Amino acid sequence: VLIALGILFLGVAVLLSYYMSKRAMIPIRQSFQRQREFVADASHELRTPLSILHSSLDVFEMEDGEQLSDFSKNVLVNLKNEVKRMAKMVNDLLTLARSETARSDDLVFDHFDLAPSAQQLVRSTTTLAQSQNLKLHSHIPDVLPVFGDHERINQLLYILLDNAIKYTPPGGEIHLTLSIEPTEKQSALLIKVQDTGFGIPPEDLDRIFDRFYRVQKNRSRQMGGTGLGLSIAKWIVESHNGTIAVSSVPGQGSTFTVSIPIIRKKA
Ligand code: ADP
Repeated sequence: VLIALGILFLGVAVLLSYYMSKRAMIPIRQSFQRQREFVADASHELRTPLSILHSSLDVFEMEDGEQLSDFSKNVLVNLKNEVKRMAKMVNDLLTLARSETARSDDLVFDHFDLAPSAQQLVRSTTTLAQSQNLKLHSHIPDVLPVFGDHERINQLLYILLDNAIKYTPPGGEIHLTLSIEPTEKQSALLIKVQDTGFGIPPEDLDRIFDRFYRVQKNRSRQMGGTGLGLSIAKWIVESHNGTIAVSSVPGQGSTFTVSIPIIRKKA
């Protein structure tokens, strides 16, 4: 009887502590939720004044550009760069905060052909790559039937290409390869972005998908980086039930590989 009572007592104690810890978590969870909503709302509100600031600087530059001293012109260029960086950061924060508040209606899943928009993206990033003396090669089939959020997958491609351009010194090469590969149960969209850039030290590889993590802060800052791109990329991939991986050799380059299952039910 004593043993049975002991077991019963233990069971009740375990259940009670489980219940209490669950209850104790509720206010913490609510407070995280409020914090995320605050970040989402604040970044949303900041977008308008920032875009007004940016266009005002454009007008100022057009009207008074000729009369400005070299010093003031320099100040203006720096000001515009920082406003641009801030706008990018605010946009990235908004995307992340939205991803965390789990507004799944933010994602629109559909069947579509990724090939035309990927080609278009390559055309626009080629100009950027050429301006830094980089060669961008693309390997994209004529048709790429995909199931997912078209805008987000475009954003994912842009983040990976933009990083490859930012972190590859002049004279380097970037390869974008898109394909549909059969897997065990279904097919998957495979995205590979390979560069001959600075590479990432092995000890940083695990952390580059963390928010605000930058291997070389100065280089990232100079290139207009925010440290948020890869965490957004990871969120996009995971919300498509996919995987993202990186392999890199410092001084030789990096390869980012994404696999996204094509047929999936909406979560
Ligand atoms: P950022 O806005 O700084 O580029 P990301 O989240 O996109 O932020 O990337 C995080 C960090 O990972 C970057 O600051 C950079 O140090 C490193 N990184 C990302 N892509 C590459 C790449 N292709 N080659 C070398 N380093 C990279």
